Amino acid sequence: MSDTPHSVQPAPQVIPRSEHNISRADISKNALKVLYRLKDAGYQAFLVGGSVRDLLLGRHPKDFDVATDAHPEDVRALFGNSRLIGRRFRLAHVRFGHEIIEVATFRGFGNEEQAAGHREVSEETGRLIRDNVYGNIEEDVWRRDFTANSLYYNIADYSVWDFTGGFADVHARRLRLIGDPETRFREDPVRMLRAARFAAKLDFEIDAGCAALIPELAHLVDGVPAARLFEEFLKLFQAGHAQASFRQLRRLGLFEHLFPATAQWLGPGGDARECFLEEALANTDARVAEDRPVTPMFLLGVFLWGPVADRAAALGGDAMSDFQALAVAAGELAREQTERIAVPKRFSVPMREMLQLQSRFERTRGARALAFIESKRFRAAYDLLVLRARAGNADPDLAHWWTTLQQLPPEQQRRELGLERPGGSSRRRRRGPRRGGAQRLAVPSESPPGN
Ligand code: ATP
Ligand code: MG
Repeated sequence: MSDTPHSVQPAPQVIPRSEHNISRADISKNALKVLYRLKDAGYQAFLVGGSVRDLLLGRHPKDFDVATDAHPEDVRALFGNSRLIGRRFRLAHVRFGHEIIEVATFRGFGNEEQAAGHREVSEETGRLIRDNVYGNIEEDVWRRDFTANSLYYNIADYSVWDFTGGFADVHARRLRLIGDPETRFREDPVRMLRAARFAAKLDFEIDAGCAALIPELAHLVDGVPAARLFEEFLKLFQAGHAQASFRQLRRLGLFEHLFPATAQWLGPGGDARECFLEEALANTDARVAEDRPVTPMFLLGVFLWGPVADRAAALGGDAMSDFQALAVAAGELAREQTERIAVPKRFSVPMREMLQLQSRFERTRGARALAFIESKRFRAAYDLLVLRARAGNADPDLAHWWTTLQQLPPEQQRRELGLERPGGSSRRRRRGPRRGGAQRLAVPSESPPGN
């Protein structure tokens, strides 16, 4: 395997239909409609990017992008169900119910002077943007990141066009940047996160030359707009390969630029703290695999729990209650974290609640405990407690006690919480788990945690 920068060849290697496995049966019907209509109108039309890569790998693409020499207005004219988006570089979105097929005109560099003049980074997205400069397919290849993402499937004869050696790289499961890696990472530091993500998701190996550069350039991620990092966070951690993403980010020195407080709390790793995070991530992946819902607020809370607990301990003592200390620490760390990754309030607010509620598990008697178990945020807080207990960060007996309590019918729950005697009157009795001792609640089995 060579580490020399991979360049764009002037003419593509054309891989005929007989020599690749991409079948039209695996391509979205709507994408095919768009491709055929463009072709019939006399334009070039290719499927491009992640969809071609995924089809070659026998995976189901999550979206289908089209590249063409038709200009956006031409695409708009061909499809009644389309609209043009983007100010600096216009794209057409062709809508079919819930599915949107993105159609992009080949992008060019213009002449050198023009290219230099237009080289700027968008304020909102941090992406390198040039004004609408249309080009041909050879120029378009240069705006792709990895060779594996730069393959074009031609609807005219079902061949694959390869300008960069991407076809061989997909089969060798290799991630290689097009062009000089340092230039390409500096142009857009998100490409480093994308390298980690594709390595995790596709089980690809990052080319040694690219991989060696990432720890050196990782600090450039600090300059990426927080909104864009939230999008990347979702793709890294909510798509079924969270644990592998975490390992790649740690290995490449990127994690500390996404979650600085968590990275500091973790230290070099390899201990119970790392196990705690790994277990949470594996749990999330299992849920995605079973098609159960996952919410970013839970994983964000897991990432912040260690630093929040440490800060709360430093704040606590006589000055405030455990609950107050956790509330203050969770508020501070959530604020610091959202400066880096723009987590919308609908996730950060429940996340803070879930963290501060950890102190409520200590209270195992009375009406407050009953109200807690019936509250909207109980389930997430409880799932975090179970993970903590498994990692030695909370009393396993306490976690077990809450597990069994949930499975009791309401009258028995009230009795356990000391709110009712077996006979029905409400004289209080002493209950709750005995730390380190045997459990007193006799309920069959522990339910598996979810999040
Ligand atoms: P997936 O959709 O599976 O996450 P993808 O490769 O399709 O992966 P997208 O973000 O959908 O990724 O982008 C589509 C294509 O656009 C990519 O395959 C790549 O060619 C190009 N691309 C996207 N983001 C970048 C970037 N930051 N730099 C260079 N090229 C990019
Ligand atoms: Mg895609």
